[in-house]
Amino acid sequence: MKFEPVIGLEVHAQLLTRSKLFCSCSTRFDAPPNSQTCPVCLGLPGALPVINRQAVTMAVKAALALGCRVRTVSIFARKNYFYPDLPKGYQISQFDRPLGERGSVAVFSGERADGGKIVNRREKVFGITRLHMEDDAGKSIHEGLPETASKSYVNLNRTGVPLVEIVGEPDLHSSQEAYDYVVHLRKTLLYLGVCDGNMEEGSLRCDANVSIRPEGSDTLGTKVEIKNLNSFRFLQRALDYEIERQTRVLSQGGRIVQETRLWDESEGRTFTMRSKEEAHDYRYFPEPDLPPLRLDPEWLERIEAELPELPGAKMKRFMTEYALGADDALLLTATVETAAYYEECARASGNPRAAANWVMGDLAFALKNSGREIGESPVSAGDLAELIRTIDSGEISGRIAKTVFEEMSRTGEPAAGVIRRMGLRQVSDEASLAAVIDGVIAASPKQLEEYRSGKTRVLGYFVGQVMKETRGQANPGVVNELLLKKLTGA
Ligand code: ADP
Ligand code: ZN
Ligand code: MG
Repeated sequence: MKFEPVIGLEVHAQLLTRSKLFCSCSTRFDAPPNSQTCPVCLGLPGALPVINRQAVTMAVKAALALGCRVRTVSIFARKNYFYPDLPKGYQISQFDRPLGERGSVAVFSGERADGGKIVNRREKVFGITRLHMEDDAGKSIHEGLPETASKSYVNLNRTGVPLVEIVGEPDLHSSQEAYDYVVHLRKTLLYLGVCDGNMEEGSLRCDANVSIRPEGSDTLGTKVEIKNLNSFRFLQRALDYEIERQTRVLSQGGRIVQETRLWDESEGRTFTMRSKEEAHDYRYFPEPDLPPLRLDPEWLERIEAELPELPGAKMKRFMTEYALGADDALLLTATVETAAYYEECARASGNPRAAANWVMGDLAFALKNSGREIGESPVSAGDLAELIRTIDSGEISGRIAKTVFEEMSRTGEPAAGVIRRMGLRQVSDEASLAAVIDGVIAASPKQLEEYRSGKTRVLGYFVGQVMKETRGQANPGVVNELLLKKLTGA
């Protein structure tokens, strides 16, 4: 029997506020352990939470950007559980009346072909169940595994930092779709400036729920939740492993047990963390220390009107305005900065195709080598555009342009200066090229013989020699034309 995977993700994103969700402690947690705390985030008796307006604004932006309906009245709720890094004994979250619901995202998603290449990228719509706000727990650090640690430390600097949890519908049907979906969410949050998107550092965390069902069935199978996925790669690998494991179990007539599993990257497998019986009962109830969160409809409209151009819209605009394919548009809109750079270069050069190739090729390579972000590029978008125009006008060849670009990224000098200083202008002047060509022909009697006896392939040899003599600066079109004339004795 063939099985279809069904995946739904729960993504936690840390909001980029300066202070915590319910107190004025700083959200910097590289500060000395436990130095960014106060009675509120330590859960001391009698301390009262006060909502952070900035956090609400950011959460609302995220909800709107994900197409959610935003409630004008949402309710905070206590989610009770015990853990050493949760001093209150509960998280303040939202339960039955969350901030946002019933959203969706349109994601350009593809299929992974053999060899890992992504093919057939096209737009797919995935539902968002809800987006709610909550405060983060602290961080436990164990010497060794949590169960057997000889020492454990608790750092409460993160306690109370604002999060949004984005719960997705079980609409994803491959690990690649899950990957593309999280990349899209991350990109959207970054465009909005509400999260830094750093998965390794935990500002973006993802739990994956996965089940399989016979192809064609429309009932859901028993799901397994996978935690501990702190990179896009881990997410994809864990899902692939789990889909295969479940398929094996069902194919052998077994049954999937509802449980939470952890991904072990070093072993490349998931293992049981806790079963359904051990699952938490959070005993949610409305938070008595906070009033309902009321949002003014006019304020909401204003926030919506002020949203920046979102990744999906920008991608589609790039595809039509600059005639780019989905893969290129995806790369060129990876960040707001990349998109702005590309767009400036495409417009100023009048050659969007060439601009795309340079930005994704030589520029990306140079930036990677020097460990720089595109915002710190030594070659400005305007300077790159000028280089492209210089090629298009025939002043330098595409090959020489590579050398010019390298020099530009080394020195930050514009193209014109480099070309002048290094004497790299393309030689199109027939008289001087004719002299070089005569020399080359005179020095290659054997090849000339071959050519005249009908082996016209040696033309390439002559072109190569002329290029060598002129250090690549000869105009290839003119060289070809002149060579043909001379070789055929015309
Ligand atoms: P729980 O009550 O266990 O938290 P939810 O219904 O809240 O489960 O769903 C949590 C996440 O799991 C959502 O992202 C949802 O899309 C996903 N999910 C729910 N059921 C399934 C299933 N059978 N297979 C895969 N994913 C699922
Ligand atoms: Zn505090
Ligand atoms: Mg849930």
